[in-house]
Amino acid sequence: MLRPVTDLRGVGDAVAVKLARLGLSTLTNLLFHLPSGYQDRTRLTPIRDLVQGQEALVQGKIVDAQVIRGRGGFRRMRLVLQDHGFNLNLSFFHFSYAMQKAFTPGVELRCYGRVRVPAKGGGIEMAHPECTFIPSNNPPPLSDALTPIYPLTQGISQRQLRQLISYAMQALKKTELRQLLPLAKIRLTDALQKIVTIHLAQALEIIHNPPSEADKNNLLNRTHPAQFRLALEELTAYRLVLLRDKRGRQRLPAPVLEPVGDLEERFRRALPFTLTKGQEQSIAEIAHDLAQPHPMKRLVQGDVGSGKTVVAACAALQAIQAGYQVALMAPTEILAEQHLRQFDTWLRPLDIQITPLLGRMNAKAKRVHSLDIAEGTAQLVIGTHALFQEAITFAKLGLCIIDEQHRFGVEQRLRLHKKGVDLHPHQLLMTATPIPRSLAQTMYANMDLSSIRELPPGRIPCETVVLSATKRPQLIERIRHQLAQGAQAYWVCPLIEESENLNAEAAEKTAEMLKEAMPDIAIDLVHGRYNADAKRLAMQNFQSGKTRLLVATTVIEVGIDVPAANLMVIENAERLGLAQLHQLRGRAGRGGQRSYCILCHQEPLSATAKQRLQLVHKSHSGFDLAEADMKLRGIGEILGTRQSGAVEFKIANPIIHNSINATICELSEQLLDQPKAQQDALIQRWFGSNERYGTV
Ligand code: ADP
Ligand code: MG
Repeated sequence: MLRPVTDLRGVGDAVAVKLARLGLSTLTNLLFHLPSGYQDRTRLTPIRDLVQGQEALVQGKIVDAQVIRGRGGFRRMRLVLQDHGFNLNLSFFHFSYAMQKAFTPGVELRCYGRVRVPAKGGGIEMAHPECTFIPSNNPPPLSDALTPIYPLTQGISQRQLRQLISYAMQALKKTELRQLLPLAKIRLTDALQKIVTIHLAQALEIIHNPPSEADKNNLLNRTHPAQFRLALEELTAYRLVLLRDKRGRQRLPAPVLEPVGDLEERFRRALPFTLTKGQEQSIAEIAHDLAQPHPMKRLVQGDVGSGKTVVAACAALQAIQAGYQVALMAPTEILAEQHLRQFDTWLRPLDIQITPLLGRMNAKAKRVHSLDIAEGTAQLVIGTHALFQEAITFAKLGLCIIDEQHRFGVEQRLRLHKKGVDLHPHQLLMTATPIPRSLAQTMYANMDLSSIRELPPGRIPCETVVLSATKRPQLIERIRHQLAQGAQAYWVCPLIEESENLNAEAAEKTAEMLKEAMPDIAIDLVHGRYNADAKRLAMQNFQSGKTRLLVATTVIEVGIDVPAANLMVIENAERLGLAQLHQLRGRAGRGGQRSYCILCHQEPLSATAKQRLQLVHKSHSGFDLAEADMKLRGIGEILGTRQSGAVEFKIANPIIHNSINATICELSEQLLDQPKAQQDALIQRWFGSNERYGTV
């Protein structure tokens, strides 16, 4: 049944090894290696009409060709392509002598690439476009169908993969693509009937090899019925994995953490506020789960600033009172430090032993703390990834709390989960990137959900302004005025380059510039290249109010809580995701005072980018923005699965394919009662034999 790729013509051991890196070892694997998108090379776009971010095919004449020697001795080739008097820069960082010789003024080229507008100005460009020479007397015809683009690995080209997949299509018989969905067992609407009657082989054929008559826009938007057909399978398989995980967990033993004693009550009495309804309800739901003999896995979704930390504290107290240890982990050192301070204030009066486990600790401190954790004197352990190091063993771990869970990879979460000795610890996950309920039904089918829908009373929504970077001088003047009057501000220079060093450099430059412009203001800087101590110091000085303006990269994005800060400037805002902008904005105005967020963007701004920034200006709902973001940028970005690489769908986009959600739920539940071999076959088809998949 499962024929190896080496059955194909042209696939020897060397190629097989490369294919294996993509998880492709059988012909079926090849068939289900789906294009991540399509390129539209069916038409030429005039240079005049190019839009930032768009991929396009252009044709023009080279009017200038130069080799530029940059910093550090790097060479770059820059061509200027012209069509109807409009110019496009083409840059190449890797180029051969032959290219240098061939690309000369007067030569006609056809290029495919992504359009970008460099921040430094100088017009639109394409970096490393694919180029073909066009003999002016005999231009080759344009292709008449979309070109599929596959996820690649080194040593395998698009063309090669396309060829292998087409061989695999021919080699496999229709009968081998068995129908694995229990379609007979569910009710289908007419629209769905149309989708499911497409045979799997036919759907694959269309997707790998789009016929010229297929609707291009549908295919590009992933809304072609053939794409729906495959998305139905993929999401059903995914949800099946989650349901099996949930079922498996319900059979595991966990410590029963009865709500006893008066710790929680004493804690609540000391709080300077009353809890919101959403907080109360989440606490109650968690309390109930912790008292069960099976591990909880509950996700608390609550917008930025909704007060999830208090909820975590109540859960921790229940576990501690029952005699168990609690591990609290945060995705960044800065956030872990903040939790440490917060929990210290809250829980120290209750005589609870809090043990940090942080990157800044020296080897000796780490050893001492690890010993405390192993012996059980550490009751609440707060840390970052250091917490996962194999050397750390807990005496009696009862509860893991994972803050900003979307920031962690699946792998990391799994490792923490294994820390329980023979009983499996309960898991509490928290996220400020909520997803709509219908989507959660599929994506989080292995978890229980609590939602905090309201913000604590008295918060005034952060007023958000979209501003062109050309107005920077006026902006600086306004901010200076505000700061002089006692305001406190963040100035964020987000990650825009691949390299951490370049970003740090950009932030450093901005800080210098601002210091010069506002010599009377205490300005500080924090970025990813700072070591843990320096980061902590910078945050402390900002927290205490000593620093009035903090220039930062996105290291401050998650969780940071400095109530006095009421201004937030975000540079290059057009480059960030909506959920990310909302998170950043959530740092400002936590103290109940009026607050402002300035989304500063480069010019020119494309229509879509403008629309996106307007959304953040208008909406203050993390739920709405997360949904819009997922539609625009795909789901991996939002659910934090991209880092882990484990949950990137091949074709499905649960937002785009939202209309089949109910069917996916029904099918996956039906499948749970089908023979295990059938379930396994479906999972194998989509996710290979990756055992980890969905097991957390
Ligand atoms: P997030 O949900 O983003 O993690 P935090 O837990 O950091 O939010 O809480 C944000 C701020 O709101 C903190 O300063 C916290 O002390 C405060 N807070 C939490 N709950 C309430 C409440 N019920 N009423 C007033 N303020 C609250
Ligand atoms: Mg938080």
